[in-house]
Amino acid sequence: MNAYDAGRMVDLLQQSHTLSMVETPQQADLIILNTCHIREKADDKIFSELGRLKKLTNRHDPKKRYIFGVGGCVGQAQGAELFKRAPFVDLVFGPQNYHHLPHMLDQVLQGKRQLHDIEIPTESKFDALPSAPNSGYSAAVPVQEGCDRFCTYCVVPFTRGREWSRPVEDIIQEVQNLTDKGAMEIELLGQNVNAYLGYDQEGVEHDLALLIRQVSLVPGVERIRFITSHPADMNNDLIAAFAEVPELNSYMHLPIQSGSDKILAAMERGHTVAEYLTWIEKLKRVCPKITLASDFIVGFPGETEEKFEELLSFIKETKFEKLGAFIYSSEEGTDAYDMPDKVSEMLKKKRFEKLMMAQQNISLEKQQQFIGKVLRVMIDEKKKTQKDCYIGRSEYDFHEVDGVVHVNSEKELSPGDFVDVKITDAYEYDLSGIVISD
Ligand code: SF4
Repeated sequence: MNAYDAGRMVDLLQQSHTLSMVETPQQADLIILNTCHIREKADDKIFSELGRLKKLTNRHDPKKRYIFGVGGCVGQAQGAELFKRAPFVDLVFGPQNYHHLPHMLDQVLQGKRQLHDIEIPTESKFDALPSAPNSGYSAAVPVQEGCDRFCTYCVVPFTRGREWSRPVEDIIQEVQNLTDKGAMEIELLGQNVNAYLGYDQEGVEHDLALLIRQVSLVPGVERIRFITSHPADMNNDLIAAFAEVPELNSYMHLPIQSGSDKILAAMERGHTVAEYLTWIEKLKRVCPKITLASDFIVGFPGETEEKFEELLSFIKETKFEKLGAFIYSSEEGTDAYDMPDKVSEMLKKKRFEKLMMAQQNISLEKQQQFIGKVLRVMIDEKKKTQKDCYIGRSEYDFHEVDGVVHVNSEKELSPGDFVDVKITDAYEYDLSGIVISD
């Protein structure tokens, strides 16, 4: 979502102030950090990055007036407070206000300083954004933002705001614009994407499953994926879509966060381990080839050695293809911040490493099952370091750094090409193979 937002900021400022991207901070006139608050010590990292950039630009040209902005969830959470630690910052705004950037920039150019805009506006920012950009063959489309779940460790409901869904027609129009410009793969985005509940012009309610069906009907859409889902917002229609909508990737990312009911309850996730497993079983029944990924938080308050072992057994039994593990960091303003029975940093790290080690073997075992199979791969890019080799993705992966297919082809390929690839080797996350047809 942040990558999408950053791209739209560029589109906006290109249109309003004819700004364009440059290669280095020294070349820039305006430097914006679009921030995420989820990662550990997010605030500290932003302040240290701001300090680094300030020094870098000062050294490069002490006379030049660089304009600094901080957007995203740290901007939203800090607001005007941010100026106390970084007084040279000119603009602070949140993820729901970046469409005000051209106006804020005008004010800075007129001599105003330290502007902040973190009120969650009543108008939709999407109405103020320029029409879909030329985003190539793969494009993200936000369909839902914010979250009403208030998990006790998470700041998203406070920084992105309450849950809301874009109207169906707006989404379809955006998808159509994107496919007209060459997009073939559409990624539907939302903080809690499967809580999507939008309406069409006739007032017909659409959940995510119905929206996916509508998107699949847009001419030119070859692949659809969506991220990120919540187990408590799963439904049978969404599961059926995996069997019935050929364009939908056979991949689901369904974070559970803990393998212990007691911890899940403390996190207020709104589901149990057994309920989660029921959804996984249904997904596998309806779409036996589906690959699954999940996220886990290690070291949540109250995670005893016994509960951690429960998590480990859960992972070994469920065997996800991919796993995102995060070390718990307590965020001020969340309910978990004051929870007792904190786990020491050393123990958190140790458990994290143990978890990742266990997953490495599972991932490799799962990936090896693809050897000898033929996968339809969409080409992302040509590898710079290896001749006749490309990077692409099969229907089992979404857009990530890892989880790619390394494709060997003597024939020149271009981004967006679809080829059949026979898998010859498997690694922990990636696969490699040779083109057998195009
Ligand atoms: S569902 Fe996701 S975004 Fe919402 S509060 Fe929980 S972790 Fe945060």
